[in-house]
Amino acid sequence: MGRRLVVSVILERERAGASSMAEQVLRNIGPIVLLGPPGAGKGTQSKRITEHYHIPQVSTGDLLREHVKQGTALGQQVGELLANGELVSDHLVCDIVAWRLREPDAQRGFVLDGFPRTQKQAAWLDSFLKFEFLESGKWAAWLPIVVRIQVDYNKLLLRITGRRTCPTCGTIYNVYSKPPRVDEICDLEGAKLIIRDDDRDEVIRERLETYERQTKPVAEYYERLGGL
Ligand code: AMP
Repeated sequence: MGRRLVVSVILERERAGASSMAEQVLRNIGPIVLLGPPGAGKGTQSKRITEHYHIPQVSTGDLLREHVKQGTALGQQVGELLANGELVSDHLVCDIVAWRLREPDAQRGFVLDGFPRTQKQAAWLDSFLKFEFLESGKWAAWLPIVVRIQVDYNKLLLRITGRRTCPTCGTIYNVYSKPPRVDEICDLEGAKLIIRDDDRDEVIRERLETYERQTKPVAEYYERLGGL
């Protein structure tokens, strides 16, 4: 079977070919991979897809940040890398992803956000998905739908420097394009909004450079395989 590759028209395509809303929402979706630099809107697009299909968003950044917050052994190991905008080693991230994708809520499908970020991770993901699919027959297909989001560099800078997050409910705001009603306060929870450690000015360029250097080849990997 050929690799299934599409752009960000998944929802529209589903609507067009739908037999019934319940059928399309509850059917087996399989893996979806979102590729794009920090600030491209992967989190926002994931949220739309996951809410529509009732499948989880698996964000390696969120999983790693949670480890850091909880102070686990892994969190202590990776805390500094995250704070400096550097990538965590492939084997640690792949272990976290394997563990997360075997959770019951990921059996109809999932949206990967922030993974794979290196060619090694992409190759690992292919083997992992194929193995899991052949072993258990879960997911509609093991080949992921890959969505690449491209955004102008200056827009990315504005998006990242303006980003504020609610520490309670996770709602993402932007002081330039989507400000809260009251300055620095979450509309829903009333909590004071925070700036992610790795959204600090000095780290942003490093993260964007890391993306160019290591993650662009991932898009090329998928291009070679299927014509992204
Ligand atoms: P994100 O929220 O996706 O921008 O990720 C935040 C940070 O977590 C990154 O700057 C990396 O330090 C780390 N990280 C997230 N995903 C990965 C990954 N797939 N491989 C290596 N490091 C990652």
